[in-house]
Amino acid sequence: MPARINQQRGSVLVVDIKQNVSLQPFNSLAIPSVATHFVELTQERELPEIIAYSQARQLGLRVLGGGSNLVLADRVEACVVRNTLLGRTLVEEDLDTVTIEVAAGETWHDLVAWSIAQGWSGLENLALIPGTVGAAPVQNIGAYGVEIADRLVSVRAFDLQREEVSNLSNVECLFEYRNSLFKSDENRYLICSIRLKLRKSFSPMLHYGPLQALKTNIDLRAQDVFDRVVVIRQAKLPDPDRIPNAGSFFKNPMVTGAVFQRLQLQFPDLVFFRAGSGYKIAAGWLIDKAGLRGQSGAGGVGCYSKQALVLINPQRSSSRDVVAWSDRVRHRVEQLFDLTLEVEPRIWT
Ligand code: FAD
Ligand code: NAP
Repeated sequence: MPARINQQRGSVLVVDIKQNVSLQPFNSLAIPSVATHFVELTQERELPEIIAYSQARQLGLRVLGGGSNLVLADRVEACVVRNTLLGRTLVEEDLDTVTIEVAAGETWHDLVAWSIAQGWSGLENLALIPGTVGAAPVQNIGAYGVEIADRLVSVRAFDLQREEVSNLSNVECLFEYRNSLFKSDENRYLICSIRLKLRKSFSPMLHYGPLQALKTNIDLRAQDVFDRVVVIRQAKLPDPDRIPNAGSFFKNPMVTGAVFQRLQLQFPDLVFFRAGSGYKIAAGWLIDKAGLRGQSGAGGVGCYSKQALVLINPQRSSSRDVVAWSDRVRHRVEQLFDLTLEVEPRIWT
């Protein structure tokens, strides 16, 4: 039953808020979960209705994109808003660049493929990342040395606290490594669209090992990098439709020079990278070294055999099993390396 009917500017707006909706099809870990209230946002003008409905029932609002970076509780006591806003617009163009505005409900990978087909480069390293455009700034998605922060001009978001639309510049988004204002101030903003600046010419980013072989190609196109990234990822990462997962489950720990020296002395084969004034330690290597790659626990939740950093949930078990395995991994890594792993996906309790 529609929650209510709103007469707005002569048109009838029907906001269909459902109750007790299964979120299992909407999260890539395939966790069985039920939202007490659920609505698909198809137009921005539906938002005031959804907010009024939630306020009247003292419900919090939770924004759902593709559910590929979430660990869901059995029951989510909130109004879950699944973002399905669509649209791509060219807003500015000069000799070298284009600026595009893309609605938050668009699929990220489709946007990347489309931008390359238009002859615009900059997103090719970020191919095949699951999820929506609106979630991309939330954890500042990154892969193969490129982050969305490198391409993003601004974010248009509905500020749920102030109940008004905000335009946030790149600097105002407070982007960090797999973090942003939207992740640290969770549930405050509903991102409606983003603006990205892409290039008409191509300057490849090939410093990550698996892409280095492309350096010898003198006619290299963005499409070639895109194709290579897709092939590498398909070979190494589990397809969530076949083996439910949420990608990398932990962030790579950033450590100081002193901590790095202690670790390297103890583990000469440590995998690390310079990062600013400190070091980034490969979390996948730590988990592998702790003997957990390919291992599993209650409910079959475990570490993927081809990349230990990816937690898999092949039996579609509950968040309890996922969190229990995550705690076990964190505990083992802490015992062995005296390092704390930070969980990357958002946990909805
Ligand atoms: P969801 O999981 O639905 O939501 C994630 C968070 O964002 C939640 O807190 C949610 O409330 C919030 N959110 C979603 N949409 C909005 C919105 N419109 N406004 C405000 N908040 C919103 N991540 C990387 O960074 N790099 C990778 O290479 C990568 N590879 C992956 C590979 C696999 C196989 C998988 C399963 C995941 C991978 N991820 C990767 C993680 C994930 O795909 C990204 O974080 C992605 O951006 C999440 O998008 P989503 O739409 O699924 O977000
Ligand atoms: P990988 O190539 O096996 O590398 C392992 C780790 O080492 C990565 O986490 C990466 O850090 C780091 N690394 C490798 N080469 C580096 C370099 N030249 N400079 C700095 N850091 C380097 O990783 P993978 O698992 O196959 O993933 C490939 C890329 O896809 C990575 O960028 C990874 O972040 C991304 N990815 C992310 C997720 C997710 O859910 N967040 C899931 C799958 C893949 P970074 O992670 O900082 O890049």
